[in-house]
Amino acid sequence: ESTRELLLSRIRDVADYPKPGVVFKDITPLLADPAAFAALTDALAELCVRHGATKIVGLEARGFILAAPVAVRAGIGFVPVRKAGKLPGATLSQSYELEYGSAEIEIHAEDLEAEDRIMVIDDVLATGGTAEASLELIRRAGAQVAGVSVLMELGFLAGRARLEPALRGAPLEAL
Ligand code: 5GP
Repeated sequence: ESTRELLLSRIRDVADYPKPGVVFKDITPLLADPAAFAALTDALAELCVRHGATKIVGLEARGFILAAPVAVRAGIGFVPVRKAGKLPGATLSQSYELEYGSAEIEIHAEDLEAEDRIMVIDDVLATGGTAEASLELIRRAGAQVAGVSVLMELGFLAGRARLEPALRGAPLEAL
Protein backbone atom coordinates (compact mmCIF):
# COMPACT_ATOMS: atom_id res chain seq x y z
CA GLU A 1 0.00 0.00 0.00
CA SER A 2 1.50 3.32 -1.02
CA THR A 3 1.58 6.20 1.45
CA ARG A 4 -0.90 8.07 -0.71
CA GLU A 5 -3.37 5.18 -0.67
CA LEU A 6 -2.93 4.70 3.07
CA LEU A 7 -3.57 8.38 3.80
CA LEU A 8 -6.54 8.58 1.43
CA SER A 9 -8.11 5.52 3.04
CA ARG A 10 -8.06 7.22 6.46
CA ILE A 11 -9.77 10.46 5.43
CA ARG A 12 -13.52 10.45 5.99
CA ASP A 13 -16.02 12.46 3.95
CA VAL A 14 -18.66 14.06 6.15
CA ALA A 15 -21.63 15.37 4.18
CA ASP A 16 -23.30 18.67 5.07
CA TYR A 17 -20.65 19.76 7.57
CA PRO A 18 -20.16 22.49 8.74
CA LYS A 19 -23.16 23.54 6.64
CA PRO A 20 -25.53 22.02 4.05
CA GLY A 21 -23.88 21.28 0.69
CA VAL A 22 -20.33 21.09 2.03
CA VAL A 23 -18.45 17.77 2.11
CA PHE A 24 -15.95 18.04 4.95
CA LYS A 25 -12.70 16.07 4.80
CA ASP A 26 -12.32 14.64 8.31
CA ILE A 27 -8.77 13.62 9.25
CA THR A 28 -9.55 12.20 12.70
CA PRO A 29 -9.52 8.54 11.46
CA LEU A 30 -6.00 9.19 10.11
CA LEU A 31 -4.84 10.64 13.45
CA ALA A 32 -6.27 7.63 15.28
CA ASP A 33 -4.25 5.21 13.12
CA PRO A 34 -0.63 5.21 14.32
CA ALA A 35 0.75 3.83 11.03
CA ALA A 36 -1.04 6.46 8.97
CA PHE A 37 -0.17 9.30 11.34
CA ALA A 38 3.49 8.21 11.31
CA ALA A 39 3.52 7.95 7.50
CA LEU A 40 2.05 11.45 7.25
CA THR A 41 4.55 12.84 9.76
CA ASP A 42 7.47 11.23 7.91
CA ALA A 43 6.31 12.48 4.51
CA LEU A 44 5.87 16.07 5.73
CA ALA A 45 9.21 16.00 7.58
CA GLU A 46 10.86 14.77 4.37
CA LEU A 47 9.51 17.82 2.52
CA CYS A 48 10.86 20.12 5.25
CA VAL A 49 14.33 18.58 4.95
CA ARG A 50 14.24 18.58 1.13
CA HIS A 51 13.39 22.28 1.02
CA GLY A 52 15.89 23.29 3.68
CA ALA A 53 13.32 24.52 6.18
CA THR A 54 14.70 25.80 9.49
CA LYS A 55 11.29 26.24 11.17
CA ILE A 56 7.70 25.16 10.71
CA VAL A 57 4.71 27.44 10.95
CA GLY A 58 1.58 25.46 11.81
CA LEU A 59 -1.89 26.89 11.27
CA GLU A 60 -4.50 26.71 14.04
CA ALA A 61 -6.06 24.33 14.78
CA ARG A 62 -5.63 21.10 12.78
CA GLY A 63 -2.35 22.37 11.39
CA PHE A 64 -0.96 22.28 14.94
CA ILE A 65 -1.69 18.57 15.25
CA LEU A 66 0.37 17.81 12.13
CA ALA A 67 3.09 20.45 12.44
CA ALA A 68 4.24 19.64 15.97
CA PRO A 69 5.32 16.01 15.38
CA VAL A 70 6.77 17.00 12.00
CA ALA A 71 8.93 19.66 13.68
CA VAL A 72 10.28 17.12 16.15
CA ARG A 73 10.84 14.54 13.40
CA ALA A 74 12.68 17.07 11.17
CA GLY A 75 14.62 18.46 14.12
CA ILE A 76 13.46 22.05 13.59
CA GLY A 77 11.36 24.53 15.57
CA PHE A 78 7.60 25.00 15.61
CA VAL A 79 5.92 28.42 15.52
CA PRO A 80 2.13 28.70 15.84
CA VAL A 81 -0.03 30.97 13.70
CA ARG A 82 -3.14 31.58 15.77
CA LYS A 83 -6.51 33.21 15.41
CA ALA A 84 -6.45 36.81 16.64
CA GLY A 85 -6.27 37.40 20.38
CA LYS A 86 -4.71 34.09 21.45
CA LEU A 87 -0.98 34.86 21.53
CA PRO A 88 0.29 36.60 24.70
CA GLY A 89 3.36 38.40 23.28
CA ALA A 90 3.94 41.09 20.67
CA THR A 91 2.22 39.96 17.46
CA LEU A 92 1.95 40.75 13.79
CA SER A 93 -1.65 40.45 12.50
CA GLN A 94 -3.02 39.75 9.07
CA SER A 95 -6.65 39.92 7.95
CA TYR A 96 -8.01 37.97 5.02
CA GLU A 97 -11.30 37.48 3.21
CA LEU A 98 -13.50 34.45 3.78
CA GLU A 99 -16.48 33.40 1.68
CA TYR A 100 -18.61 35.46 4.06
CA GLY A 101 -16.79 38.09 6.11
CA SER A 102 -13.16 38.08 7.13
CA ALA A 103 -10.74 36.49 9.57
CA GLU A 104 -7.53 37.54 11.29
CA ILE A 105 -4.46 35.51 12.20
CA GLU A 106 -1.40 36.38 14.27
CA ILE A 107 2.19 35.30 14.90
CA HIS A 108 4.85 36.14 17.48
CA ALA A 109 7.21 38.07 15.20
CA GLU A 110 10.21 37.50 17.45
CA ASP A 111 9.99 33.72 16.90
CA LEU A 112 11.15 34.17 13.28
CA GLU A 113 14.58 35.41 12.25
CA ALA A 114 15.88 36.79 8.97
CA GLU A 115 17.90 33.62 8.26
CA ASP A 116 14.89 31.37 8.83
CA ARG A 117 13.35 29.41 5.96
CA ILE A 118 9.78 28.63 6.93
CA MET A 119 7.65 25.66 5.90
CA VAL A 120 3.93 26.30 6.36
CA ILE A 121 1.98 23.18 7.31
CA ASP A 122 -1.77 22.64 7.40
CA ASP A 123 -4.15 19.75 6.91
CA VAL A 124 -6.25 21.12 4.06
CA LEU A 125 -5.71 23.80 1.44
CA ALA A 126 -9.22 24.95 0.54
CA THR A 127 -9.55 28.49 -0.89
CA GLY A 128 -5.94 29.24 0.06
CA GLY A 129 -6.88 32.30 2.10
CA THR A 130 -5.37 31.07 5.37
CA ALA A 131 -2.11 29.96 3.77
CA GLU A 132 -1.86 33.20 1.78
CA ALA A 133 -2.25 35.30 4.95
CA SER A 134 0.35 33.16 6.76
CA LEU A 135 2.89 33.75 3.97
CA GLU A 136 2.22 37.47 4.35
CA LEU A 137 2.95 37.22 8.08
CA ILE A 138 6.19 35.31 7.51
CA ARG A 139 7.44 37.87 5.00
CA ARG A 140 6.42 40.77 7.22
CA ALA A 141 8.34 39.13 10.09
CA GLY A 142 11.40 39.26 7.82
CA ALA A 143 11.86 35.52 7.26
CA GLN A 144 11.97 33.49 4.03
CA VAL A 145 9.38 31.01 2.75
CA ALA A 146 10.61 27.45 2.14
CA GLY A 147 7.20 26.27 0.96
CA VAL A 148 3.68 25.23 1.87
CA SER A 149 2.95 21.56 2.58
CA VAL A 150 -0.50 20.15 3.19
CA LEU A 151 -2.06 16.74 3.49
CA MET A 152 -4.81 17.58 1.02
CA GLU A 153 -5.59 20.18 -1.59
CA LEU A 154 -9.23 20.67 -2.58
CA GLY A 155 -8.52 21.37 -6.24
CA PHE A 156 -12.02 22.57 -7.14
CA LEU A 157 -11.61 25.58 -4.80
CA ALA A 158 -8.57 26.82 -6.76
CA GLY A 159 -6.49 27.62 -3.69
CA ARG A 160 -3.29 26.94 -5.62
CA ALA A 161 -4.04 29.75 -8.08
CA ARG A 162 -4.88 32.16 -5.26
CA LEU A 163 -1.67 31.27 -3.42
CA GLU A 164 0.61 31.44 -6.46
CA PRO A 165 1.62 35.13 -6.24
CA ALA A 166 2.34 34.91 -2.50
CA LEU A 167 4.51 31.80 -3.01
CA ARG A 168 6.92 33.74 -5.24
CA GLY A 169 8.26 30.50 -6.67
CA ALA A 170 8.32 28.52 -3.41
CA PRO A 171 6.77 25.04 -3.71
CA LEU A 172 3.21 24.13 -2.73
CA GLU A 173 2.95 20.40 -2.16
CA ALA A 174 -0.09 18.30 -1.29
CA LEU A 175 0.46 14.69 -0.25
P1 5GP B 1 -8.78 28.07 3.26
O1 5GP B 1 -8.27 29.27 3.97
O2 5GP B 1 -7.74 27.42 2.38
O3 5GP B 1 -10.07 28.30 2.55
O4 5GP B 1 -9.18 27.04 4.36
C1 5GP B 1 -8.23 26.24 4.90
C2 5GP B 1 -8.50 26.05 6.37
O5 5GP B 1 -9.81 25.56 6.60
C3 5GP B 1 -7.54 25.03 6.89
O6 5GP B 1 -6.98 25.52 8.09
C4 5GP B 1 -8.35 23.79 7.11
O7 5GP B 1 -8.05 23.20 8.35
C5 5GP B 1 -9.79 24.23 7.07
N1 5GP B 1 -10.62 23.40 6.17
C6 5GP B 1 -11.35 23.83 5.11
N2 5GP B 1 -12.01 22.83 4.55
C7 5GP B 1 -11.68 21.72 5.24
C8 5GP B 1 -12.04 20.34 5.14
O8 5GP B 1 -12.83 19.88 4.30
N3 5GP B 1 -11.47 19.50 6.04
C9 5GP B 1 -10.61 19.94 6.99
N4 5GP B 1 -10.07 19.04 7.83
N5 5GP B 1 -10.27 21.22 7.12
C10 5GP B 1 -10.80 22.10 6.26
